Amino acid sequence: MSEFIAPAKPIIGDEERAAVDRVMRSGMLAQGPEVKAFEEEFAEHFGLGRACVAVNSGTSGLHLGLLAAGVKAGDEVVVPSFTFAATANSVALAGATPVFADISADDFCLDPGSVEAAITDRTVAIMPVHLYGHPAKMEQLLAIAEKHDLKVFEDAAQAHGASLHGTPVGAFGTFGMFSLYPTKNMTSGEGGMVSAADAEIEQLLRLYRNQGMLQQYHNEVVGLNNRMTDIHAAIGRVQLTKVDRWTKLRQENAAFLSSRLEGVTPPPVADGAVHVYHQYTIRVPQDRDGLAKALREEYNIGSGMFYPVPNHELKPFQANVELPETVKAAAECLSLPVHPSLTESDLERIVTAVNTLAKAGA
Ligand SMILES: *Cc1c(COP(=O)(O)O)cnc(C)c1O
Repeated sequence: MSEFIAPAKPIIGDEERAAVDRVMRSGMLAQGPEVKAFEEEFAEHFGLGRACVAVNSGTSGLHLGLLAAGVKAGDEVVVPSFTFAATANSVALAGATPVFADISADDFCLDPGSVEAAITDRTVAIMPVHLYGHPAKMEQLLAIAEKHDLKVFEDAAQAHGASLHGTPVGAFGTFGMFSLYPTKNMTSGEGGMVSAADAEIEQLLRLYRNQGMLQQYHNEVVGLNNRMTDIHAAIGRVQLTKVDRWTKLRQENAAFLSSRLEGVTPPPVADGAVHVYHQYTIRVPQDRDGLAKALREEYNIGSGMFYPVPNHELKPFQANVELPETVKAAAECLSLPVHPSLTESDLERIVTAVNTLAKAGA
């Protein structure tokens, strides 16, 4: 059988290894000059026009962002259910209640109508997820937030470089979080980067990240140790020099798949949106699981389901809400390989396999 086509593949080169070695030899491993440089280069690279604060994971980034924004027990934050559990987890960890809204069929991201219906007098914020690397409907969500005097937080874990009408994701909300986990569009090993809308949010992020200290042993608030190490930052800095090329390859791979796949629904792209294809997610209305199994067993092609169980059905949340588009997407979504390491022959194999299986299944 042909070689396995992995659903994701982190790319680590000699430059990353050399950067790690440089930091190891410096003897300075914890948060230091590499982290500071990475924060500045990240903000500059993605044109965020605001300061960034590096942390040890994307989940920490969401958690600290919520704390910095003053989210507390008794508050409600409207989140999508169709996302990775870290979105709702971070709200719950901040002591608040995640309230689940539905997604739109056309972009897998929060449906503004459903968000508005979920707002109560306890709602303090909306946290859209730019799922799969496609920007959420930010203009409508910001308008709703303004009307109801709410904050907006962005989970941009999967969307480095995505934008809407020229504005990069991570530049819309009170804060925006980018994950640097190995399978994301770029990595630092583990890590997260949080963009801050203003100096106060930035300062609080820096405090919460470091036990409440800016000046050593002069703790100002109760904080955590969620610092990024210089080792991880050094990896991230190198990846930053490569991510644009990888994004372009993801977009080219997606275009190849979308122009050739038959009998399945390719991922839509909204007007004015730049999609960075963290995932290339099709809808398979009939027997998605069977298609995934056949791809793996008959064609040696990996795929992913992000996410098969909506968050409102997960044990820690169990919310009694009707989210029909979320339930439908969870049953139909299938992410095909789109990562930058795919060759043209890999892409052709994926197209042939999906088209053959889809035709046989129809
Ligand atoms: C990956 C991810 C996170 C969490 O990021 P980590 O770096 O793994 O902690 C949060 N939200 C979404 C949508 C993600 O995909």
